[in-house]
Amino acid sequence: MAIRHVKKEKGKKRALDAIESVFSLIDLVKRSFPELLSRYSYLIQKISMRNKVTLSSSFKRRICKHCKAILIPSVNSRVRLRSKHKNLVYYCSNCKKYTRFGYSKVRE
Ligand SMILES: [Zn+2]
Repeated sequence: MAIRHVKKEKGKKRALDAIESVFSLIDLVKRSFPELLSRYSYLIQKISMRNKVTLSSSFKRRICKHCKAILIPSVNSRVRLRSKHKNLVYYCSNCKKYTRFGYSKVRE
């Protein structure tokens, strides 16, 4: 039982490392090979589902909630701040839909 638990945790850690490395690859190829982005978003989904890993909020903001495309500001998405509603609005030019993420002031 304990060994199985350790193995499971090790797998999750490996999955998180793999997801991070895929995101670092995205930063390298986003302008030169934009056709690879759909493949990378598919890989990220598969890795996170297979290992039951939830993506961190910084990674979630880079994926469209509707079509699962990887959002790159000024390439395939637009980012606007809505200070009245305190949220970030991402417009995906792939599926023409909006994705909102809330934000709040950092308290000191
Ligand atoms: Zn989209």
